[in-house]
Amino acid sequence: MINDKMGAKELPMAGIILKDGNSEQVKTGEWRNQKPIHILENCKHCMLCVMPCPDNAIIHDEDDKMLGFDYDACKGCGVCAKVCPFKAITMENE
Ligand code: SF4
Ligand code: SF4
Repeated sequence: MINDKMGAKELPMAGIILKDGNSEQVKTGEWRNQKPIHILENCKHCMLCVMPCPDNAIIHDEDDKMLGFDYDACKGCGVCAKVCPFKAITMENE
């Protein structure tokens, strides 16, 4: 049982990621308290949001058309919304 008298060395291990690139296996979407919403009418399908996403959670097709988000993997960090130059992604509380 965790309490506020415990030191750092007494705390149990939690939230440790032992391997990188594993968000698809561990469903990091469960960590999310905000989720990105795609505003299709603003989207220019420029793909600028794809590379910065730490969870590879931007779904797009082979023709580079942005299709939305993999909410099983998306942690809700909001990076995609910050980098989108066309305000085509907004963050919504869950
Ligand atoms: S950065 Fe914005 S405009 Fe470009 S693909 Fe992503 S959502 Fe669409
Ligand atoms: S909020 Fe955007 S950048 Fe962050 S994990 Fe989700 S899809 Fe990726």
